[in-house]
Amino acid sequence: MAAQQTVDNKYVYDFAEGNKDLKDLLGGKGANLAEMTNLGLPVPPGFTITTEACKAYLATGREPDGLADQIEAHLESLERGMGRKLGDPDDPLLVSVRSGAKFSMPGMMETVLNVGLNDRSVIGLSAQAGGNDRFAWDSYRRLIQMFGKTVCEVPGDEFEHAIDEAKRAKGTSNDLDLDADDLRALVDAYKKIFAKHTGREFPQEPREQLDLAIRAVFESWNADRAVVYRRQERIPADLGTAVNVVAMVFGNLGPDSGTGVAFTRDPASGAQGIYGDYLTNAQGEDVVAGIRNTVPLQELERIDKKSYDELLDYMARLEGHYKDLCDIEFTIERGKLWMLQTRVGKRTAAAAFVIAGQLVDEGLIDLDEALHRVNGAQLAQLMFPRFKLDHEFEPVARGIGASPGAAVGKVVFTSARAVELAGEGEAVILVRRETNPDDLNGMIAAKGILTSRGGKTSHAAVVARGMGKTCVSGADELDVNVPAKKFTVAGQTVNEGDIVSIDGTTGKVYLGEVPAMPSEVVRYFEGELDPERTDDPLVRAVHRIMGHADAARRLRVRTNADTGADAARARRFGAEGIGLCRTEHMFLGDRRELVERLILAGTDREREGALAALLPLQRADFIEIFREMDGLPVTVRLIDPPLHEFLPPLEQLAVNVAVAQERGEDVAKEEALLAAVRRMHEENPMLGLRGVRLGLVIPGLFAMQVRAITEAAVEVTRAGGSACPEIMVPLVGAVQELETVRAEAEKIIAEVVGDSGVEVLIGTMIEVPRAALTAGQIAEAAQFFSFGTNDLTQMGWGFSRDDVEGAFFWRYLELGIFGISPFESIDRDGVGRLVRIAAEEGRAARPGLKLGVCGEHGGDPDSVHFFHSVGLDYVSCSPFRVPVARLEAGRAVVETTGSDSR
Ligand code: ADP
Ligand code: MG
Ligand code: MG
Repeated sequence: MAAQQTVDNKYVYDFAEGNKDLKDLLGGKGANLAEMTNLGLPVPPGFTITTEACKAYLATGREPDGLADQIEAHLESLERGMGRKLGDPDDPLLVSVRSGAKFSMPGMMETVLNVGLNDRSVIGLSAQAGGNDRFAWDSYRRLIQMFGKTVCEVPGDEFEHAIDEAKRAKGTSNDLDLDADDLRALVDAYKKIFAKHTGREFPQEPREQLDLAIRAVFESWNADRAVVYRRQERIPADLGTAVNVVAMVFGNLGPDSGTGVAFTRDPASGAQGIYGDYLTNAQGEDVVAGIRNTVPLQELERIDKKSYDELLDYMARLEGHYKDLCDIEFTIERGKLWMLQTRVGKRTAAAAFVIAGQLVDEGLIDLDEALHRVNGAQLAQLMFPRFKLDHEFEPVARGIGASPGAAVGKVVFTSARAVELAGEGEAVILVRRETNPDDLNGMIAAKGILTSRGGKTSHAAVVARGMGKTCVSGADELDVNVPAKKFTVAGQTVNEGDIVSIDGTTGKVYLGEVPAMPSEVVRYFEGELDPERTDDPLVRAVHRIMGHADAARRLRVRTNADTGADAARARRFGAEGIGLCRTEHMFLGDRRELVERLILAGTDREREGALAALLPLQRADFIEIFREMDGLPVTVRLIDPPLHEFLPPLEQLAVNVAVAQERGEDVAKEEALLAAVRRMHEENPMLGLRGVRLGLVIPGLFAMQVRAITEAAVEVTRAGGSACPEIMVPLVGAVQELETVRAEAEKIIAEVVGDSGVEVLIGTMIEVPRAALTAGQIAEAAQFFSFGTNDLTQMGWGFSRDDVEGAFFWRYLELGIFGISPFESIDRDGVGRLVRIAAEEGRAARPGLKLGVCGEHGGDPDSVHFFHSVGLDYVSCSPFRVPVARLEAGRAVVETTGSDSR
């Protein structure tokens, strides 16, 4: 950054001038090439054109003033250093042109190798290589192919086709069997393809090749795929890409040459030791393209011991220097090793934890840094059940891992069939080309969803993630035929009722049942695995890092739990209380009858009778919960949903009445219920008679709940326990609502508590925008606030959650209106601002006001960081999310600004 500001209009940096901290300016690849150069590693010389130059080019459509001169100057110095001129007919210097943004991004132009070759310099190159014609023509045909494809958008398969044709004519499937003459002919064929698609001859002027390639890299920043990828990954659109121009070294000069990739540890498991692939007599892109079989890197020891030992030495130095897993690209040219790229390597979730733990043991990083290097999304991934995979199971197709988990079930093709079979207790996988809102019921009924089209933001993917359901989308090898109730894949036909297994983490699809196993990490949290005894390195690492997160974090983590069983599990997962205990389930099942009596009550006595019958049932529920959460705070929310939700649906009642009348039975009660349902019907129930409004309209309802809570607390405490209830009033928008409820509640509490020593707090949810904006007033009457961010998002955006996710969120995500659903991760700018205002004004009115959050967002990593920054006291989330929230609350503390974990 500093260099960017101090040196005006410096657009080109020699590798010796940069370093790894200049990613913004030099891109990841350029910054790391510079770093390796300065470490004294053998990097072919070259220079980097900055992201600033790219931005200027994109803004004006032409190269900024001075850029051409600077490139010229750096090229000249490169030529001097190498003792060769770019594209010189007798002894050519060749270069590669490589894109490299701050974050690596699919969809951007990749690399053109061998720039500088033309009809004349190809002869010079052959002479340079001691008369190796084959090598020279092979390099030339590669240039035309890569240049055509990436710079001029010539369809790549036409080149593929031509080389396949040449191999067929020769009766071989191996590139190496093509001799110099074959390759010379192939160059002619490639040139024709190039001319056909571009309307011009392949450019012979080396400097023009270079300039066109540089320009193509700039422009690839705005390619459609790159733009979409950035929106989805929330990468800013204005970073631009750098361009690296690097002197070519050749791995395709014969058996003493080759190219490879290497990792300093296993990126899958994190295990120590080197991992990688090597390919003899090849250029870099051959390794990835998989045209020939690579050998394991260890074989290099046998092939070229000197280079192997040297490589190991560099890998150790890089790891020590970056203090992390590095991945590396290298090439050996006639026994001389060259380093072509390094970066901190990508890794699986398990490897992230294991490596962070190892690096602490090795003294390379401290625990704060280890905590910084893992994240809640990875931990969440490790908590899903996994398929037990061995060689028996080969995937038949691979799509996008759209929503994680492992699901096994019978294939169905329609929503209706999914609902039907699930109703019979079958596990089903709903298979569609693409889902649409009509499939919603089927998606709810299914164990997993598999589609042949659509990406991470397709309808199926968005809705499945919202439901926490396993989903693989865009498995395009599947040919789905819904009317015929079958799909075909890899030559096999799968019919309705056949079993498939899908892995929503990897996107893999298997035929038949793949056995699944519970996650070791969950077994550890459940207390089934002793972290001190196990030899599972993952469990040990998770234990250690979680311990550090717990020690570091300021936010407490509570859970949302409505039953003793949930409370107990959450406590094992580390919950420090309940942040949201919903009471509505206490009105369901065989208690519906009492709710009906309450609703139909014609007189005070009838109503009081119904409430009196409900009281002991509720008290028993609370006793169980307080026992499980002994000594920890429990926030109980008074009844929230509209009461008619507890009555049967209108249609069903109408049918009941008609049937009963037909049979001549007594229909008085059915008719009364029907009338009540009609009377209570609301157009917008979410905005209707619910929450505190119910409590103010139905006498005795809240009072009964307050009494049940307090009596339960007193009973548990008198029996030697310690209950800490916090009564929470939902949907308050004005302080007057809360004051009214509170006055009545305090009388009851005072009466019930007596000398038991129980203390009951009264507070409110902040979930209506008006409450957030008048938090200063509301705090006068509230001992705590709990942000109900689901409703706050719903009312803040005016989104009906049940409708919008399936109806149009996919489009909003596609357009980049938001990068992630605001129900998944808090919208910091809007809804988050309401939280911030309410927190600040609430605390100003009542210092020390206890603040928490109880929406889904309490378990979302990014939201947890936000709540930490706002200064809340705790977050509350579903039991399974508790470890994620603990980890992220710790990370929020150690997070240093400016470091990128992407
Ligand atoms: P990507 O980001 O797709 O890996 P790279 O720019 O790293 O693209 O290049 C693609 C391949 O070409 C890699 O294997 C790389 O090692 C190789 N390569 C790039 N520049 C050179 C060079 N100057 N000499 C030899 N090989 C190179
Ligand atoms: Mg590379
Ligand atoms: Mg709510």
